Amino acid sequence: MIIQRVVLNSRPGKNGVPVAENFRLEQSTIADTVQAGQVRVKTLYLSVDPYMRCRMNEDTGSDYLQPWQLSEVADGGGIGIVEESKYDNLAKGDFVTSFTWPWQTVAILDGSLLQKLVPQLVNGRLSYFLGAAGITGLTALLGIREKGHVAAGANQTMVVSGAAGACGSLAGQIGRLEGCSRVVGIAGTDEKCSILVQEMGFDAAINYKKGDVAKQLRELCAGGVDVYFDNVGGDISDTVISQMNQNSHIILCGQISQYNKDVPYPPPLPPDIEKIQKERNITRERFLVLNYMDKQEASVLQLCQWIQEGKLKVRETVVEGLANIGAAFQSMMNGGNIGKQIVSVSK
Ligand code: NAP
Repeated sequence: MIIQRVVLNSRPGKNGVPVAENFRLEQSTIADTVQAGQVRVKTLYLSVDPYMRCRMNEDTGSDYLQPWQLSEVADGGGIGIVEESKYDNLAKGDFVTSFTWPWQTVAILDGSLLQKLVPQLVNGRLSYFLGAAGITGLTALLGIREKGHVAAGANQTMVVSGAAGACGSLAGQIGRLEGCSRVVGIAGTDEKCSILVQEMGFDAAINYKKGDVAKQLRELCAGGVDVYFDNVGGDISDTVISQMNQNSHIILCGQISQYNKDVPYPPPLPPDIEKIQKERNITRERFLVLNYMDKQEASVLQLCQWIQEGKLKVRETVVEGLANIGAAFQSMMNGGNIGKQIVSVSK
């Protein structure tokens, strides 16, 4: 059977900025027959995520990520529909997902590696299973629950960097739902900041590309910062950490500002900021959502409930066509739009 697929065309280099041309669309073939235990799936949605930047290097710099190989098909979070099944627990017409979905139009996969989806849980918005009701929502929720030390009634102020991104936009809302009394976001455009406040219930948002971030943060978090959901690292994080309270907590979710640089993960703090962190007893433990998959089922149900109740506002940008996945990845790494970036493959 003839299919379309996207392979890694070139590596951006350790300190390079990824571009759409690092990926290549090509025609390929898959077997005509499905073996016992396998299913043939048609791809519907693919996710583009910042961690993929590390997979573009020969050495990912991370102990849990495998590099993509040149001229081989890329993979990541994906959703599809079963077209033919020789796996007992899946039938034609089932919607399924995997963290290692190949970037191709049709694939033959091991049934045991797929999770079946219930579209009603997200009011039929299947792509949400790659975002708010998938790994992104889990990252925000479990990051806060495992590392945030948020307690209802404790009058805590949370700051979220990368706040308009897939994870950040959920993290701020979940911080509030879990009990923070004040939530302030940091994002890269006025439009993003205004959506965070007007639509997603953040108390305030700072455009880090305009004005003095430290000054604005001091004004907006007069009692200091108790919980910092860190998606970006670098200068923004140094500024936030400088204003954190004694015995406060950093949720070390990601460091997107550092991903194009040849630095270890997590990058060490500059000495003056590390001194503040130690003196104020600020926790900064590494958080990796994949380490908490025993909590996946219950947490996804919680996220779906909030989505259905309208308590979690979800934004996503859907780019049409497998041919555009490289451009979608490039755009996402450059800030993209608010919320989750998804590629729709079937149309
Ligand atoms: P995303 O949707 O691309 O959002 C990232 C946001 O960061 C964007 O809104 C972007 O917009 C902002 N940003 C990009 N470059 C920046 C820079 N140099 N300085 C400041 N802000 C910058 O990504 P995501 O899926 O939400 O992921 C967010 C972070 O979580 C990433 O670091 C990712 O690696 C991490 N993550 C961690 C886990 C885990 O298990 N720990 C799981 C999933 C994701 P603006 O610049 O316009 O604000």
